[in-house]
Amino acid sequence: MRYLPVFLDLDSRKVVVSGGRAVAVAKLRTLLKTKANIHVYSASPDFRIVDWSAAQQITLHRRFVNKQDLAGAAVCYAASGNPEEDECVSIMARQTNVLLNRVDDLESSQFITPAIVDRDPVLVAISTEGSAPVLARKIKSLIEISLPVGIGGIARIAGSFRKDVKKLSPHLRRNFWEKFFSKINPVELNKFDETKLRGKLRTLFDHDLKIESTAGSIAFIGAGPGTYELLTLKAYKILRVAEVVIHDRLIDDTILDVVRAEAHLISVGKTGFRNSITQEEINQLMVNQALRGKTVVRLKGGDPAIFGRLDEEVDACELAGIHWEVIPGVTAASGAAASIGRSLTRRNRNSDVRFLTGYNAEGYAEHDWVGLAKENTVAAIYMGKKSASFIQGKLLMHGAKPNTPVTVIENACRPDQKIFDLSLSQLCRVFVDKNVSGPTIFLLGLAGRDTLASFGEFSQRSMHEVG
Ligand code: SAH
Repeated sequence: MRYLPVFLDLDSRKVVVSGGRAVAVAKLRTLLKTKANIHVYSASPDFRIVDWSAAQQITLHRRFVNKQDLAGAAVCYAASGNPEEDECVSIMARQTNVLLNRVDDLESSQFITPAIVDRDPVLVAISTEGSAPVLARKIKSLIEISLPVGIGGIARIAGSFRKDVKKLSPHLRRNFWEKFFSKINPVELNKFDETKLRGKLRTLFDHDLKIESTAGSIAFIGAGPGTYELLTLKAYKILRVAEVVIHDRLIDDTILDVVRAEAHLISVGKTGFRNSITQEEINQLMVNQALRGKTVVRLKGGDPAIFGRLDEEVDACELAGIHWEVIPGVTAASGAAASIGRSLTRRNRNSDVRFLTGYNAEGYAEHDWVGLAKENTVAAIYMGKKSASFIQGKLLMHGAKPNTPVTVIENACRPDQKIFDLSLSQLCRVFVDKNVSGPTIFLLGLAGRDTLASFGEFSQRSMHEVG
């Protein structure tokens, strides 16, 4: 790309056009759409230029342009069609540092004017960088046909709502624009009734403003397994504007740093075995904050929809009539698989993958051990530390091979990540021999890349070594 497309603000700026024939007229047609102060220099101007001058749309000088005329100009067109005259204007423009377009001479020009489709304020500019103007015109007509005439009107109406919409909180604002554009019937775009549409949108806005004054919102955000870099962009944007953030114990500090300093951070630390706060209390806390009109984020490790009690919390929002949304995150299994450079599924190996919990409300969780014990099964086992020996015993009892690979990943995707390449028969030992205190996931049926061959002694690799 040689040319950078930019839109130049010519409001009240001086523009010089040297020339009075058809080429100059063509440039002037486009320039007249702006609010520039246009000065045309020509000893024998075309009648249209004379008319525009009479209508005070331009200032006409019936002489050749000189250097003083260029002072303070934003841009200058050498459009006389006479090579000597145009060359002279080009030299003066260079000397006075005025951006120059020399019509029909690409090399001497500092800018080029694209073909445009004008649906003011929507503007599509098309350029082939001067290589195929006819193609540019073809593209222009294709766009002309497909871009409804009314699109500019819609953009104008949207613009007139911008100030009002700023009064809404971020999530309502986003939703408002979504609803705004979905209220517009594409078939009606060419003959829409501006007053009617404004009325519709005003009703929509008033409705949202009413919601705004009565209740806040809750976004369930997946924080991913590690540092803030694994947050989605959407999660990041919402976290930047949240007023209250209710987060799990295991959320990394780098993620909490994303939150505004004025936001209220509430930790609802729960560990698998010692619940310091009940689910009911978390629901209440969340709902109460939202009912006070706050923009609440419920921040959960990994993906909120995986072993995150999401449904219960969403039910509480529904019951209280609070607006909510879910922002997915990278689940620990995906993070851990990425860390060992293995895919969770593989052609001719496994066409399904299971996400299991080692522990549930009843204690050690029961599963389809027969299926899990089969060769080539891949399963990500969450919350499996306490039940490691139970899981190991069940799998072996149901016929799993003792040398089935199991990779144990502690603190996946964090700077203190540890990876233990094991065989199933070694699974429990790692928790006896090593201090595995962080969140830990097992990938049953998957080995790290450099340990496929042997499972004699389990190896531990730090994040560093994994690279
Ligand atoms: N919603 C989360 C899972 C919550 S259950 C997700 O999608 O990842 C909590 C369990 O997830 C932990 O006990 C552990 O098994 C696993 N886990 C979460 N973060 C982890 C991490 N960074 N490394 C390893 N395991 C993790």
